[in-house]
Amino acid sequence: MGKEKTLCNNNWHSLEVGEVIELLTTNATKGLPEKDANERLAQFGENILPEKKKESRLLRFFKHFNDILIYILLIAAIVTAFLGHWADTVVIVIVAVVNACIGYFQENKAEKALEDIKKMLSHTAQIVRDGKRLEIGASHLAVGDLVILHPGDKIPADLRLIKSDNLRIEESALTGESIPSQKNVGAIAVDTPLGDRDNMAFSTTTVSAGTGMGIVVATGQNTEIGKINRMMSEVKLITTPLLRQTAKFGKTVSFVIIAIAVLVFIFGYFYRHYDTGELLMSVIGLAIAAIPEGLPAILSIILAIGVQNMAKRKAIVRTLPSVETLGSVAVICSDKTGTLTKNEMTVKTLVTSDDQFSITGTGYSPVGDVVKDNEIVDFNAESVLDSLIGCFYICNEASLGKDEEDNWYIKGDPTEGALITLYEKASVDHHETDRIATIPFDSEYKYMATLVEAEDKNIIYIKGAPDRLLDMAGKELSLSGEKPFDRQNWENAITGLAGKGQRVIGGAYKIVTKDKKNLSHEDLHEDVTFLGLAGIIDPPREEAIEAIKQCSEAGITVKMITGDHIETAKSIGLEMGIGDGIKALEGKAIEQMTDEELESAAVEYNIFARTSPEHKLRLVKALQARNIICAMTGDGVNDAPALKKADVGIAMGIKGTEVTKDAAEMVLADDNFSTIAAAVEEGRRVYDNLKKTILFILPTNGAESFLIIASILFGTLMPLTPIQILWVNMVTSVTISLALAFEKLEPDTMKQPPRSPQTPLLDGYFIWRILFVSVLIGGGTLLLNLYLLNNGVSEDIVRTVTIQTIVITQMFHLYNSRSIRKSAFSGDFFGNKAVFVVSGLLILLQLVITYIPFMNQVFGTVKLPLHFWIYPFVFGFIIFIIVEAEKWVMRLMDKKTDK
Ligand code: ADP
Ligand code: MG
Repeated sequence: MGKEKTLCNNNWHSLEVGEVIELLTTNATKGLPEKDANERLAQFGENILPEKKKESRLLRFFKHFNDILIYILLIAAIVTAFLGHWADTVVIVIVAVVNACIGYFQENKAEKALEDIKKMLSHTAQIVRDGKRLEIGASHLAVGDLVILHPGDKIPADLRLIKSDNLRIEESALTGESIPSQKNVGAIAVDTPLGDRDNMAFSTTTVSAGTGMGIVVATGQNTEIGKINRMMSEVKLITTPLLRQTAKFGKTVSFVIIAIAVLVFIFGYFYRHYDTGELLMSVIGLAIAAIPEGLPAILSIILAIGVQNMAKRKAIVRTLPSVETLGSVAVICSDKTGTLTKNEMTVKTLVTSDDQFSITGTGYSPVGDVVKDNEIVDFNAESVLDSLIGCFYICNEASLGKDEEDNWYIKGDPTEGALITLYEKASVDHHETDRIATIPFDSEYKYMATLVEAEDKNIIYIKGAPDRLLDMAGKELSLSGEKPFDRQNWENAITGLAGKGQRVIGGAYKIVTKDKKNLSHEDLHEDVTFLGLAGIIDPPREEAIEAIKQCSEAGITVKMITGDHIETAKSIGLEMGIGDGIKALEGKAIEQMTDEELESAAVEYNIFARTSPEHKLRLVKALQARNIICAMTGDGVNDAPALKKADVGIAMGIKGTEVTKDAAEMVLADDNFSTIAAAVEEGRRVYDNLKKTILFILPTNGAESFLIIASILFGTLMPLTPIQILWVNMVTSVTISLALAFEKLEPDTMKQPPRSPQTPLLDGYFIWRILFVSVLIGGGTLLLNLYLLNNGVSEDIVRTVTIQTIVITQMFHLYNSRSIRKSAFSGDFFGNKAVFVVSGLLILLQLVITYIPFMNQVFGTVKLPLHFWIYPFVFGFIIFIIVEAEKWVMRLMDKKTDK
């Protein structure tokens, strides 16, 4: 049998572990040699699933022609051709193409932004190669690689399992079965269906509990999921509530406009006796003018820029709508350990049945001593302490190391790392013992247990939340041997440490017989001997304290949700500005509550201690029942349901599991609470800018339509020809409209309460403002036209002045729109350079259309004598002042109603 053939075997489940290892020429402890791995990667390709087939570029380009505006333009092109205005036909067709190009490029830009984000979320795998434990990108896995599995991992390729410690895997992605299946290692019948192959782990399914190891048997397209070619966990490009609202609004407007256009045509034809051709052109012009064609594209660009900005601030947003939702978050439920605190743990206190000890030194560097009464302890005289530290060391998955710059670091869970450092500081010696089985730590039950071999017996070492251990313990170890368990005494000790803000962890053991080979939770119910406690400090993050303050100014409540002891939580909360140091609720109490009771408790309390992931889910539901938009953080597998349910689920990028990242809307690249606050701030900025853009663009369409309709009704000169209207729309959609995307956060945005999710986009004020400005600009321009015509100015000049007036006024109006309610000068006036750049560009384009002879011919403009420029600028400035005055009046009225 050739090697290629064996590497593509399909029946790995029917082979024994030894056979698999032999066939794949790998090693059950050392993994694959690096050289072989590279060769196989070269031969079989990277471990990536084929991308979902994308629409071709051409197709996507032509999709932009499927648009009401383009239809109107094409009708216009046909009509003009029919009437013999060939120049117009050509221009209209060019405009239609340019318009589709703009839409296409903007859409591409938005998509590219999300693609880049997707790259930041690539999966990693823990493997052993050449005997070294490594973390590599999942795409670099080769057939034969030895993969280590932990709860929350996403299986990176198809694996034949060679070790399972209560390993359970959720395979709904592949089989549709949502109950995790228990995994084993023994060979099974060849014809076992996929869903029952309990010695295999399939790519993209997830570890829901336990640990294990497996050998890669298929990668990329050859995996089971690759065969059915389903892409999982891609960044979702869907629209947001606001985008949907505007799109719907845009459609309605378009139909209204078409109806009005028909009415206007009928009126103009029968009552004003316009020339049919001219009238047709004006009505088409009306439709072109009125439809806010560029708006949807611009809004998605603003959202995409928001996504990019958030990524720069270490918040990786996985879906566009959450950018918007983030801006309205009212409650942030945050983990304590590692998010609010630094996750740099140091053991400070140890308590045994006989004594209390303190430990010197900080951080993970193993420099320091265990001290009692100011003297370094002699471990020969402290056998209980020796056993306690040994228990913490053996029942542990972390490891300590030193980087190139001689800094100590830990691999694994910081709580466990602190215990390893403690072991290194103490001069005790517990050699590597052979581990037979383990129950890994899980926030659900809050302890870890290891079964190890001793001389004539086996021992289970347990470390975990002390209250859990208290329930198991029947005895305690003291210097005078095992004695009855004094629960009250221990409870006092725990409260004492926790009250100082220390994270408390207990150690215990249980002797079992030599023939005990596996470990389950039931084994820990009785005959457990308690060893003692460790008090660990974990300093708060300074920047998180600052961010909590900022949140409270912004009307956002921060709630701490932790698995830690209630006293620890209160004490740290007080230090950081969460809660009052007195009020806190325990997971146990949550369990006693009905959903209604929990609703008010969820609002009332800000600290929740000794919680498990289910409590998180209930809390989210309770807050949502009160219409509170809430964000929830999480890192473990079991947090996924709560994150999915939350309005914004936030996963930890560093310590979080793949499963939570998949369930989350946002991933924190630095696990830091202050990043959440930054993302909320960016969310509010984006939402404000979306609103500003809408408020800026719609009156432009309104003004042009008003002008045209009024001119037809009054029977005056047609103010703009269709291609002139096209020009106006084009120059504004390629220049001005994007400027507001770069508008900075208004200084007091983070001092306002969060926006209520019920507020509609187009509230009363919005509609008023759009109508007001439309009539102002449209009506004003009409009056200006009449005035100029009455003063004997030629029609050509009047038309050119009209183009200038509308465009220049839009430019002035841009400055109005930089703040919805506040004065144009209230913020950082020069803060947004884009506004000035587009203004300059706009004036340049206006000069081009006015003074270049070719443009005069095409667009029917004339070279304006210099003094005519007075009109657009003075007019624009007056509109600017009037709108500012309107905002001022509105502010006064706001104040009155506040009183
Ligand atoms: P949080 O992350 O909110 O601080 P956890 O669920 O991680 O809460 O921890 C809850 C408790 O479980 C801790 O107070 C500690 O006593 C115990 N604990 C934490 N990590 C471990 C671990 N790796 N092994 C054993 N016990 C642990
Ligand atoms: Mg934790």
